[in-house]
Amino acid sequence: MTGEITDGPAATEALGARIAAGLEPGQVVLVSGDLGAGKTTLIRGACRALGVTEVVSSPTFTIGRRYSGRVAVSHLDLYRLDDFGAEDPGLLDDYLTADAVIFVEWPQRVAGELLGDDAIEVVLRVTLSHAGGDRREVLLTPAA
Ligand code: ADP
Ligand code: MG
Repeated sequence: MTGEITDGPAATEALGARIAAGLEPGQVVLVSGDLGAGKTTLIRGACRALGVTEVVSSPTFTIGRRYSGRVAVSHLDLYRLDDFGAEDPGLLDDYLTADAVIFVEWPQRVAGELLGDDAIEVVLRVTLSHAGGDRREVLLTPAA
């Protein structure tokens, strides 16, 4: 595990960009942390580095969004999973695809069954937490 403190949104976006540099389609990054901790900010930085020019904000009226950069990017936010029909087994299928780099906010909302598909794998867990003011602690745990 490695950790660092960012001192504002730009620094968290920059960290996201550094993370993105090592990512390939089919790889999943799980991004945890309280509301406002900076999950979407980090993913925005990663998306920019992957060539995404669309607005990157937390998906509000859907469980996820897909962007097209130099690669396809899926961005899931499972915070309101129950509202969107967690019982539907195919709910996440459009996002968890091997052709996309995949970021998941609130991954703990789905216990084990997030990755049924062998073609995609979790490669990194990112945990953000408030560290006073605009400071955020960001912990990076590569998947074993
Ligand atoms: P989350 O997706 O975790 O709910 P967001 O990324 O949407 O969080 O929001 C984080 C908020 O905190 C933004 O308004 C952002 O500008 C602000 N902020 C302040 N300092 C930081 C920081 N160091 N890293 C990330 N966001 C920060
Ligand atoms: Mg968010």
